[in-house]
Amino acid sequence: MCPMSELISELESVVKAKLQLHMAERQILEVASLICVQELALEAMQATSRAVFDAWIAVLLVMVEQLGLLECPRCAKRRKLKMRPKDPMHIDVLGLTVAVPKPYLECGHCDAPGLSVLKLLTGLSSGEGSAQLKLLAAYCASKASYGKAQQEMRVHHNQELERTKLRRMALEVEQEAMAWAEQQRQEWPCNAWSRRPVSKEWRS
Ligand SMILES: [Zn+2]
Repeated sequence: MCPMSELISELESVVKAKLQLHMAERQILEVASLICVQELALEAMQATSRAVFDAWIAVLLVMVEQLGLLECPRCAKRRKLKMRPKDPMHIDVLGLTVAVPKPYLECGHCDAPGLSVLKLLTGLSSGEGSAQLKLLAAYCASKASYGKAQQEMRVHHNQELERTKLRRMALEVEQEAMAWAEQQRQEWPCNAWSRRPVSKEWRS
């Protein structure tokens, strides 16, 4: 079993055991109600998603330290890792929009500009969607009008997207794919990409 499947099956059995105990202690009217069970299922899903993204940020913060990013590149002194709790970053992933803390590095010793940890390590900034969601948006938009694509995203993928955003996402797909290919080529010089001829447009 791969590490992810192992983790998921472990989590599932813990969640199941706890939910069973919780429901066993409820009144009959609560247990017999599909609305109550549905509410529990949705809340549990949302909490799990939040936990996944919180864990992600926590791990990224450890990486900042491990990669030596706390050292200011301008004055070589130690930068501070700060958060703006009231200004989270909003990211759209398949099925939901998540708000995650937006940590940033700030040097109190020189005038080096502040730097978003998420931007630095993941390339993401607020309002962005996952590549998978963008592909889906592009696919839906290519099949039908943006209005219909928007409806499709809502009904079948539980994703509420503004029309302009959907349009932007669909248009970004090609650009994103090209940037990704270029990134792969630069980061992994030994892989197959480097052996392929790279057109000039990709470099610019
Ligand atoms: Zn500095």
